[in-house]
Amino acid sequence: PKIVIAIDGYSSCGKSTTAKAVAARMGYAYIDTGAMYRAVSLFFSREHVSLSNTGDVLNALDKIHITFNFNGRTGKNETCLNGLNVEEEIRTMFISNIVSEVSAIPEVRWAMVAQQQKMGRKRGVVMDGRDIGTKVFPDAEVKIFMTADVETRARRRQQELLEKGEMVNLNDIIENLEKRDRIDSTRSESPLVQAPDAVLLDTSHMAIEEQIEWVIEQADT
Ligand code: C5P
Repeated sequence: PKIVIAIDGYSSCGKSTTAKAVAARMGYAYIDTGAMYRAVSLFFSREHVSLSNTGDVLNALDKIHITFNFNGRTGKNETCLNGLNVEEEIRTMFISNIVSEVSAIPEVRWAMVAQQQKMGRKRGVVMDGRDIGTKVFPDAEVKIFMTADVETRARRRQQELLEKGEMVNLNDIIENLEKRDRIDSTRSESPLVQAPDAVLLDTSHMAIEEQIEWVIEQADT
């Protein structure tokens, strides 16, 4: 029977790289919930939505439609905001710097969680995020909580940004990761916390391939 694999944890621990590969090998769907909060943040910034105005926020949420599209030409998954590919734009430092404030808004979370539950209702999904094992799928068969030391995470993130042509100072990245982790862990609505039944995976000294195999092993047992 198909299951739900929930991968939560701190920013830039390798959650999405691992989750994507696990999904591909198991023939499961992969859902990047962080991409959804990033797409919402992009829309809010473009439309100058006032984050403290609940009416504005609800209005904007009504106009947001997020989908994932597999691009056969590039072989990559693309996040689409109202039908348009925003994959590149949502990965910039600009969005990383505002996304935690946006995702702390309860109305934003309620809307995203409802969509994520719908997307995974047939199971057979690997979902990564911050609240998958605690809130979105508390009944997930496999729950993993990923962590790594902040310098390792920052270096990995710096390399990813560099590959996309964005040069960012390591200290700026560390600051961003720590700030996001702090906001994510202290917000009122489903804060980032390890689910009591989640297994901890510290990826500080692990290679991607090891992480992938470790997760698949959890799903096998
Ligand atoms: O996973 P990623 O780093 O792209 O997520 C970006 C941000 O989105 C996180 O720092 C967090 O603020 C928010 N997020 C969340 N809940 C999730 C996934 C992401 O609050 N399930």
